[in-house]
Amino acid sequence: MSQTKIVLEESEIPTHWYNVVADMPNRPAPPLGPDGKPIPPQALGAIFPEALILQEVSGERWIPIPEPVREAYRLWRPSPLYRARRLEQALGTPAKIYYKYEGVSAAGSHKPNTAVAQAYYNKEAGITRLSTETGAGQWGSSLALAGQLFGLAVRVYMVKVSYEQKPFRRSMMQTWGAEVYASPTDRTESGRKILAADPASPGSLGIAISEAVEEAASRKDTNYSLGSVLNHVLLHQTIIGQEAKKQLEKVGDYPDVVIASCGGGSNFGGIAFPFFADKAAGRRVRLVAVEPTSCPTLTKGKYAYDFGDTVGLTPLMLMYTLGHDFMPPGIHAGGLRYHGDSPLVSQLYHEKLIEAVAVPQLATFEAGVAFARAEGIIPAPESNHAVRVAIDEALAAKRTGEPKTILFNLSGHGHFDMAAYDRYFAGELEDYEYPKEAIERSMQRLPKVG
Ligand SMILES: *Cc1c(COP(=O)(O)O)cnc(C)c1O
Repeated sequence: MSQTKIVLEESEIPTHWYNVVADMPNRPAPPLGPDGKPIPPQALGAIFPEALILQEVSGERWIPIPEPVREAYRLWRPSPLYRARRLEQALGTPAKIYYKYEGVSAAGSHKPNTAVAQAYYNKEAGITRLSTETGAGQWGSSLALAGQLFGLAVRVYMVKVSYEQKPFRRSMMQTWGAEVYASPTDRTESGRKILAADPASPGSLGIAISEAVEEAASRKDTNYSLGSVLNHVLLHQTIIGQEAKKQLEKVGDYPDVVIASCGGGSNFGGIAFPFFADKAAGRRVRLVAVEPTSCPTLTKGKYAYDFGDTVGLTPLMLMYTLGHDFMPPGIHAGGLRYHGDSPLVSQLYHEKLIEAVAVPQLATFEAGVAFARAEGIIPAPESNHAVRVAIDEALAAKRTGEPKTILFNLSGHGHFDMAAYDRYFAGELEDYEYPKEAIERSMQRLPKVG
């Protein structure tokens, strides 16, 4: 009888992060300044420590993980890999389904994997405070935890709708010592500008980023910390895929397809990039990013230079975007409501080296409930997007009778999202149409470069 739960020893926590840039056929396009010229990496020094800037532009394949960061990882890593036998049985599929479970971190998702690394490098650089944004609260709580572990104060601008919908994520951040404000606030120039135009603004990730960046840029003791999108963030998350590969090796398996939900791209990059290394070396493996139909960045967005925030304070990045002022519908997978996407994921998608698919909200909850009933774990609404596509792949294998090995990233648990499950059970959740007109309007306001 083969294993259900495949675990590694603490000593098997990876010693290096994997940098996908080394195996990409083309170098990533540089970020541009307001004048349309590539910005020198040092220009980011006002908000990031040098070590992270160097990682952001590095072409080295392997980057060593500092020992204090590996020490922090020991609190929840290596994370378990499960064979979803009960789900396979429930579906009656010949496919093998594996999932890597990142909900075992104290914050309940993959996000602390980069939060502790970012806190460490900022501390080393003499920084005492971090500012950041959070959507559903997953990133804010991860950075609050990391700030506590490394002795840094943390201030979080939390998207207002989530602040109101998810009071317990806020108390969690406060428990770990962070200050939390509902964004837009009247504390920053950016927030005041948004409120002047729309006093009832529900906020968005893009707006909250503007506020957090503005604060970091204006204070010497404060740096900014981002939970996804940037190259160094995806780099830190590659411990997920490295561990998963080692775990599959132990049971003599290898995936035909690797699936993860995709908001800013970090949990997808985290599990998929180490497999991309094999793909670049000629091995066959499909890598699939899953996004919501209500915020279909890769599948319906444009590959263009755009701002990472709403107000336009960040450098321009070449990525798939729905337009920096696109306001996605208030779906419950708050972590997937971002107008842009990781430039690395975007470039690999543009070059047709990875796949993307968009799925509607109701189908993701249906999949999440089926998963919980079979496997026990209640997934985060974001993770339900990956569960949906993993189930679809397994059902396709059932129709064709072909053997198939599926791996997906269960990026977090849904214990703070039960209100969303309540609404699903009450029949109150809706599928939002692809918001074509809103996207087209935002697209007309893309910055003109090149
Ligand atoms: C934030 C989050 C995501 C999506 O963010 P990425 O940057 O795309 O990884 C997915 N799942 C969970 C549980 C999250 O908290």
